[in-house]
Amino acid sequence: MTGAPTTPGRDALAYAASCLVRHSAEFGPAPDLGQAGPDARLVLMAGETVILRAAPAETGTALLTPDEAGRAGERAIEIYLGRVEGRPVFAGAVPEEAALLFPAPGHRALDLRALAAEGAVAREEQGLIATAKSVLAWHARHRFCANCGSPTTVAAGGFRRECGTCGLHHFPRTDPVAIMLVRRGEACLLGRGPHFRPGMYSCLAGFIEPGETVEAAVRRETREETGVAVGAVGYHASQPWPFPASLMIGCVAEALSEAIRTDPDELDDARWFTRAEVAHMIAGTHPEGLSVPPATAIAHLLLRDWVEGVIEGAIGAAPDPDA
Ligand SMILES: [Zn+2]
Repeated sequence: MTGAPTTPGRDALAYAASCLVRHSAEFGPAPDLGQAGPDARLVLMAGETVILRAAPAETGTALLTPDEAGRAGERAIEIYLGRVEGRPVFAGAVPEEAALLFPAPGHRALDLRALAAEGAVAREEQGLIATAKSVLAWHARHRFCANCGSPTTVAAGGFRRECGTCGLHHFPRTDPVAIMLVRRGEACLLGRGPHFRPGMYSCLAGFIEPGETVEAAVRRETREETGVAVGAVGYHASQPWPFPASLMIGCVAEALSEAIRTDPDELDDARWFTRAEVAHMIAGTHPEGLSVPPATAIAHLLLRDWVEGVIEGAIGAAPDPDA
């Protein structure tokens, strides 16, 4: 956890809180599910779908008992995540059919995006499920050594794969994405991607490239997508985004220019919005019906914090080295 203040805005962020004490924070080898006994808990994923024990009108849980999880049949892979309240927690990948036909009343299969939108599990469980999803997705795509092509084996409870032929170790990846509130006085710069729902605008964002700082990525992406030059860049908040394994790094950036020239390959439109307009977009009262992403997304947090004056004053970051 960071020392950042907890506001209602941050509490709404999906996947950002986790009750998991990670295996990497423990001493000793990963326990074996077979020997862990009935105390063990399992998270079952079928691609982007998770199986929940969900009583009507109650918060559900993805932490299934070994007996419950056994009803889904054979698991393609099983990894050890760590502990929750002292109990060992594992994650397993099951076929889509097993999730959809999970044979137990009081259970349901739920898409990971819907899970966050519905608040179907406790907030602290969302981060744990995001870890399960991202690591299992990595295993599904990294069964062979990227160096020599030989099959690899699971190690460190599932947080490593090892090649028996060339000896290389492979680790689950996290892909950093810079997402930025670009501001200039009382206005901020938002864009719409071609896949956005009608009327929705959001903060600009892009993958950070190898050998690039977060600040440089913010400046490059903003210029690429809109032609706007950016000076100072500061960090605000972050959010794991398990599709499949991104980390959204939320920044605030000071624009040095105003003229917009959008890249049609990246954006349908980009505009400057006033603080009052964004307040209406958040509240769902914009006269043209324009909107912003939901409160589960970090773009919403950046915009809300800007509208409410949480993001205010000079950005406490190093000056632009390219200037
Ligand atoms: Zn190899």
